[in-house]
Amino acid sequence: MDIIDERLAVIQPLSKFWYEGKVAGIDVLRLDLLHPVISGNKWYKLRLNLGYALDNGFKKVVTLGGGYSNHLVATACAAKRFGLTSVGIVRGDESLMTPTLQQCRDFGMELKFVSREDYTNRHDTQWVISLTGNSSDTYYVPEGGANERGRAGAGLLTRFVNPTYTHIALAVGTGTTLAGLRGKLATDQQVLGYVPMKKCVEQEQYISSFVAPDKQKPWRLIPDSNFGGFGKWNNKLTDFMNDFHRENSIPLDLIYTGKMMYLLNQALQNNEFSTCDRILCIHSGGLQGNTTVKQLLTY
Ligand SMILES: *Cc1c(COP(=O)(O)O)cnc(C)c1O
Repeated sequence: MDIIDERLAVIQPLSKFWYEGKVAGIDVLRLDLLHPVISGNKWYKLRLNLGYALDNGFKKVVTLGGGYSNHLVATACAAKRFGLTSVGIVRGDESLMTPTLQQCRDFGMELKFVSREDYTNRHDTQWVISLTGNSSDTYYVPEGGANERGRAGAGLLTRFVNPTYTHIALAVGTGTTLAGLRGKLATDQQVLGYVPMKKCVEQEQYISSFVAPDKQKPWRLIPDSNFGGFGKWNNKLTDFMNDFHRENSIPLDLIYTGKMMYLLNQALQNNEFSTCDRILCIHSGGLQGNTTVKQLLTY
């Protein structure tokens, strides 16, 4: 399990000019530095899943995602490194071939395209496995790595979280990383989940179902009302990402961490934090997805 060197994930303070004394400090956990493809939180959600598959004699992994899925390409790359074959079930048809999907193929992942309608069966393990030929040596990883091993793997991130942080900020897709981490953190640490979508009802439900009712610990989700939905963006976002990179030497991704820092910046401007707060932002990676806006970014 040593395909990733965790020591690469440094904790980097943001420039004081960026938060203008509105909080005591903001640090970024640079999970984006772990690996160019198996980046960020994807490694944590995959590591116990792939470890289990190897230990139990599985030869093939199957998982699902859309054409820009960081999870799909991380799985393709990690499976290859572990000597497993991989199949990716993709929502949409082959005409939607994207650079991300091409990269999946380059890592040897076999892609199977299914209609949006069929894709609604994605939580049905048997259905997914049947698409790959029903072989008993196939291990199923749900979309976004959203299973118990994914959450347990995300819980391992607490090793980077010093108890002096009052707030932990991270970007949310399925909510798997947040759910896994929340369970392992100190009760008095606030977890802020920035959701790059207009609504976050599904994630609320998903996360609440995994935070034990007898220890409801503080966490909350902040949906994005700036950019019009998942994957949507405009020049305000890319300009912000360029400014952020100039001031902090940290590249953000367009889909998740760019919007997280944008929303965090808005919250700081609105004085939503106290000057004693210390925030740890988790940079969950995803930089491979920036290829679509390469020409607009200065990094
Ligand atoms: C997948 C992804 C997320 C979302 O993680 P979840 O565990 O699904 O909530 C956040 N940030 C980046 C960069 C991602 O690729």
